[in-house]
Amino acid sequence: MRKKFIPDIPVKGKRVFVRNDFNVPLDKQGRIVDDTRIRESLPTLQYLLQQGARVVCASHLGRPKGEPIPDCSLKPVAERLRTLLKQEVRFTGETVGAGVEKAKKSLKPGEILLLENLRFHAGETANDEAFAKELAKGIDVYVDDAFGAAHRAHASIEAITRFVPVAVAGFLLKKEIEYLSLATENPPRRTVVVLGGAKVSDKLPVISHLLDKAGTLLIGGAMAYTFLKARGQGVGQSKVENEQLGFCADLMARAAAAGKRLLLPLDHIAAVRIEPNITVRIIPPGEDIPEEMMGLDIGPATIEAFTSELAQAELIVWNGPLGVFEVNTFSAGTFEIAKAVAASKATTIVGGGDSVAAVLKAGVADRITHISTGGGASLEFLSGKALPGIEALTEA
Ligand code: ADP
Ligand code: MG
Repeated sequence: MRKKFIPDIPVKGKRVFVRNDFNVPLDKQGRIVDDTRIRESLPTLQYLLQQGARVVCASHLGRPKGEPIPDCSLKPVAERLRTLLKQEVRFTGETVGAGVEKAKKSLKPGEILLLENLRFHAGETANDEAFAKELAKGIDVYVDDAFGAAHRAHASIEAITRFVPVAVAGFLLKKEIEYLSLATENPPRRTVVVLGGAKVSDKLPVISHLLDKAGTLLIGGAMAYTFLKARGQGVGQSKVENEQLGFCADLMARAAAAGKRLLLPLDHIAAVRIEPNITVRIIPPGEDIPEEMMGLDIGPATIEAFTSELAQAELIVWNGPLGVFEVNTFSAGTFEIAKAVAASKATTIVGGGDSVAAVLKAGVADRITHISTGGGASLEFLSGKALPGIEALTEA
C-alpha cells in the first residue's frame, strides 16, 4: 500500500480522529441487528487506546439527510462499544460545537469519545470545508477505518484530510485493500469471479474490469438474463435490462476473443411469481424459459458446472446472489455456491450486502477468507476506480 498506516506514526498522547463505519442495521426498537462493523473496528480502536492515544471516533448511520433524526442516533453504538471494549465510551450527543470541543480537550490518554452521527449535518455529504475544519479542530492524527464509506468524498473522509497534520489507514481499511487488491493486481491464473445480483447496470464496470483480470467469470442472478437474451435465448418474464443488451453482447465477444471463460446459467428454476410455495419448473439446458415465467434461480446442472469451476480455483471473488435467495424456493443455487466457495482451497473474498447476508445465512461465513464490510466500496474498488477515502491519505 502506498499510503501511511497507523503503525508508521507515533500516536501516544496524540488526539486521534478515527472515521469508522458504524452504519449498522437497527430494528424498529433501535436495537443493533448485526454488529459486525463495530467488531471489525476493534483492532484499530484497541491499538490506539493501548498506545495511549486520546481517541475521537465518528461515523454516519442511515440517511438522515443533514438533520438530527433520533432513530439515526449513534447512542446504541456507543453502548455496544462500551461492552466490546470493556471501557467507558463518552458520547456527547453532538457532532461539532462547544460541547464537543470541551469533551475533546478533556480526553486523557487511553480515553475514547464517540461523536453523534456525521450526517446530522448537511456539510458531511457536501464535503464542506467549514464542517471538515470543525471536525479537525485540535486533532493531531486522522485515521480512516471506514472502508464501507471509502468511495464517498464526504467531509469526514476527504475534506478533513486537508486540515490535519497526517492522515493514515486503520487496520480494517488496510485489510480490505490488501484482500481486494489480490483480484485487481496480478491475480493468479486460476482466478474465478462469481457475479450475480439484481442488475447488470450496477456492476457493469466490475464485470468489465474483472474480465481483463480473471480467467473465468461465472454469471448468475437476475443479471444473467440480459446476457442470455443478448445471446438470443428466450428468457420469458425474467428481469432484463434492454439498454444493456449491447454491452452484454460486446462483453461476450471480448471474452471469446481473449480466450476467457464466461459461463452463463445452463438451466433455471422458473415460476410465474416470486412467492414461497409457488409451483416451480426446472427449465433444462438448451430450453427457453416459457413466455409467462421468469428465471429466479440457477438450476442443478448450473450448480454442478459452477461448483466444478470453483473447485479448481486459486482465488475466488464473489459478488451477488445467484437467485432470489430471500425466498426459500429460490435459495438453493446461492446456498450451494456459498458452500462450494467455502469448501474450496482457494483464497476466497465475498463482497456485497446481500451476498454477505447469504453467506451468513448459509452458515459458512467462518470458512471465507475475507468478507468485505463495504458493498458499494468493494464494487468500486473491484472496478479499478480510485476511492476518495484511500486517495486522500498521506503518501507513505
Ligand atoms: P449484493 O448486495 O450482494 O451486491 P445485489 O444487491 O446486486 O447483491 O442483488 C441482490 C438481489 O438480487 C437480491 O435481492 C435477489 O433477490 C436479487 N436476485 C437475484 N437473482 C434474481 C433473479 N433471478 N430475479 C430477480 N431477482 C434476483
Ligand atoms: Mg444489494
